[in-house]
Amino acid sequence: MRFAIGGFNHETNAFSNVPTNVESFRSYTLLHGEELLQKLRGIRGYVGGSIDEADAEGIELVPVMYCVTNPSGLITPETYDYIMDELLGGFRKAHEEAPLDGILLELHGASHAENSVDPEGDLIQKVRALFGPEMPIGVVLDLHANVSEAMVGGSDILIGVKCYPHTDQYEQGRNIVRLLADKVRCGYDVHEALVKLPLIIVPASGSTLKGPAAEVRELLLRLEAEDPDILNMTFFHGFPYTDVSYALASVTCAARSMESAERAAMAVAEYVWEHREDFAPESLTCAEAFDRALGMLEKTGGKNPSGETLPVIINESSDNPGSGCPQDGTWLLQEFLRRNMKDTLVASIYDPETVKQALEAGVGRTIHVRLGGKTHPLHGEPVEADAYVKTLSDGCYLSRSPMGLNGKANVGPLVLLMIGNVYVTVCSKRAQIMDDGHMEVAGLDYHKLKIMGVKSAQHFRGFWETRVSGLVACDPPGLQKSDVGVYDLKLLPRSAYPLNPDCGWDGSLTFIR
Ligand SMILES: [Zn+2]
Repeated sequence: MRFAIGGFNHETNAFSNVPTNVESFRSYTLLHGEELLQKLRGIRGYVGGSIDEADAEGIELVPVMYCVTNPSGLITPETYDYIMDELLGGFRKAHEEAPLDGILLELHGASHAENSVDPEGDLIQKVRALFGPEMPIGVVLDLHANVSEAMVGGSDILIGVKCYPHTDQYEQGRNIVRLLADKVRCGYDVHEALVKLPLIIVPASGSTLKGPAAEVRELLLRLEAEDPDILNMTFFHGFPYTDVSYALASVTCAARSMESAERAAMAVAEYVWEHREDFAPESLTCAEAFDRALGMLEKTGGKNPSGETLPVIINESSDNPGSGCPQDGTWLLQEFLRRNMKDTLVASIYDPETVKQALEAGVGRTIHVRLGGKTHPLHGEPVEADAYVKTLSDGCYLSRSPMGLNGKANVGPLVLLMIGNVYVTVCSKRAQIMDDGHMEVAGLDYHKLKIMGVKSAQHFRGFWETRVSGLVACDPPGLQKSDVGVYDLKLLPRSAYPLNPDCGWDGSLTFIR
């Protein structure tokens, strides 16, 4: 069996003022041909999973093109064209060399281009148009995908990750290959139901570690196990900051029978709708979050239930670079500096200018910095202060997070500053703090910290959940505020819950094929 594999991965924050161009992908991950297999084999992500499953099943994978970049603003038209041309041209060429038995698309599902509100839907429809109705097409998406009828209508099997943090990317990468291979081998039709709810869910309340999203995940797993006709069920939270009309929560079910697909998708959608109020996130100021962190420290003595000394983490979810935020916001930093408490760390402010200044001055020197607050006015003013340059490093390490385990992490040159009593890491490339590699290269032992501030919504928890004495989120102004009503929304419907608390849902199925 011979499958072509390719895709692009971008979560677009339409409110960001940082455009997404080909260079954005090139500076992050843009792989063609064999390099795609070489670089992504053995990494616990979608593509790494698909490669392993294809190897295990004896399937030949023809690598075309795969690109990822950190979430940012709208994709430029030239970049949209580049991605479409590379992928469609590559799939056509692979099929001409030897007939393909299927096409695998590994996508995010929440991108937005200046010239298209649904680039993933466009791509799937273009692949379908190019190869006709007989070519099996499998698609794997992120949990935050804004699933459209074009995506479901143009593919044969569409699945997504079920966990947030997305610790099952690898498993779902394997899954899509197994499902598509099984369809090709057995020749059955796959029916897929899509239910879109008029419901906006934000990352701050979407963790599947506990809470309502965890309960929905349990329900998906139970329904998949109960009905042998069901191939896959996914609850997509959507990503409202994309600001497209369909950036709403949705449920999909792929099944061998239309009846099973519809019944199961509707059952989950009804459950989610009944529990919609449970998805309301808490929204604390930085001062409230810091006070709560101090309360946690007092209560636990800074120890976890096993007696290990560990910090309390305050995550600034509204400046999460994993959602297109600038990561140079200063609201939480200002709070840490105001408290000036020993053994505290803010990780990490994106500020290449300050990194350059520290590199030029060298370790052991004190510099006057204008730190952060340089990208978007919502994220606060730059902090003016004298800062002692404690360490310098290349900012490179191997990922220890279950998300992307063994992948190369690179935050560019990284400096550790001390401003008063507070440690601050400053990086040159935007990235969430996924594990302790960041602290290690900066020369810090996190066991000795009392409070640590990070810029992330949920993904940091993949590693840190069991390595903290407490967790508290703060939600100062920024590009990922939990109240999306504060933005100048162009396409996201204000008629959806919770922007409209009286919003109703008529209980109807959106789409089935
Ligand atoms: Zn996601």
